Amino acid sequence: MSQIPFTKNHLVGDEIKFLKQALTQSSLVGDGPWGTQCEKWITSHLGCVRSFLVPSGTASLEMAALLLDIKRGDEIIMPSYTFVSTANAFVLRGGIPVFVDIRPDTLNLDETKIEGAITSKTRAILAVHYAGVGCEMDTIRTIAQKNNLYVIEDAAQAFYGQYQGKWLGSLGDLAALSFHGTKNISCGEGGALLINQLQFIKQAEIIREKGTNRTQFIRGEIDKYTWVDRGSSYLPSELQSAFLYAQLKESKKITKQRLKIWNLYHEGFAQAEKEGKLARPVVPQTCQHNGHMYYLILPSEKKREKVMGALKQKGIQAVTHYVPLHFSPAGKKYGRSSGDLKVTTRISNCLVRLPLWIGLEKQINRVLEEVLKSL
Ligand SMILES: *Cc1c(COP(=O)(O)O)cnc(C)c1O
Repeated sequence: MSQIPFTKNHLVGDEIKFLKQALTQSSLVGDGPWGTQCEKWITSHLGCVRSFLVPSGTASLEMAALLLDIKRGDEIIMPSYTFVSTANAFVLRGGIPVFVDIRPDTLNLDETKIEGAITSKTRAILAVHYAGVGCEMDTIRTIAQKNNLYVIEDAAQAFYGQYQGKWLGSLGDLAALSFHGTKNISCGEGGALLINQLQFIKQAEIIREKGTNRTQFIRGEIDKYTWVDRGSSYLPSELQSAFLYAQLKESKKITKQRLKIWNLYHEGFAQAEKEGKLARPVVPQTCQHNGHMYYLILPSEKKREKVMGALKQKGIQAVTHYVPLHFSPAGKKYGRSSGDLKVTTRISNCLVRLPLWIGLEKQINRVLEEVLKSL
């Protein structure tokens, strides 16, 4: 019996061809033709003002923290149910993550609980689009405007997802994408910072180039470059960009194929949900998701253990998700919670993610059957 892994690398066609072409270039350093092509593609397809390729989604969040000039004691409102980088990027600057509960339906930041967490120290709201389903961005942006806060989208999982017909990543002041191997569009390790405010562009160029004005130098705007501000090294090499471009070009197809698998799961579990045995993901009318993840919410932690154990015995890899940040040692040390975060706790105990990768459609019935049998 073959194993069914949770995730699997997927070549869409031109990756090797583009890598070979890149290898003939005289230089493989960042911001070459492949990197530029990727950025142009992302900017024009996602409708953001500007995009910068970076080495990871984490790097784009770190750049966002530098761009917003987060200082010691500044507070950033975010879910506790998220990846560590969402918080860590701001903690590195002395910022304090303020954890707010998630909605029980989309598992995104509960917008009704944001205002209760705002203090005179609050600087930004971090909207994580969990599983590629958009946060309630209209409300979040209204709250941000009213309180003079920035909105950052952690769209690491949300490439090609939409909210009210607009691409996720184009709705906040800044947004982070990830092209990590576990994401829909990937180059192993990679990411992009999306900028939707003109005022950030020049500074982002400097931060990304080790705090120098080298980007201006390359454009021929100045005749030598120098250290002008804080910064770090946030350029991916041309090898990553060439690979990524092959995936970007096919992203519509990739999204469609993932959605097809997602829908097979969703139909397959409809009856079990009716019988009260589990809950399926909820996608609001306002959102078009990208098939990033299929998860189930079981009635108890014990039930989840049972389901996962049964799948493991059959060679099917199903996994839990985040340990809430407010429970983690670093989250306790560097962050604080607002409210009781009851939904976060329940979801972290009861959610299980099922395998989802292109090619799985041939074996998906095996996963469906084994889950249903184990309930
Ligand atoms: C994957 C992910 C990140 C980090 O992206 P990397 O490219 O792995 O650094 C950040 N936030 C969320 C919500 C993610 O899913």
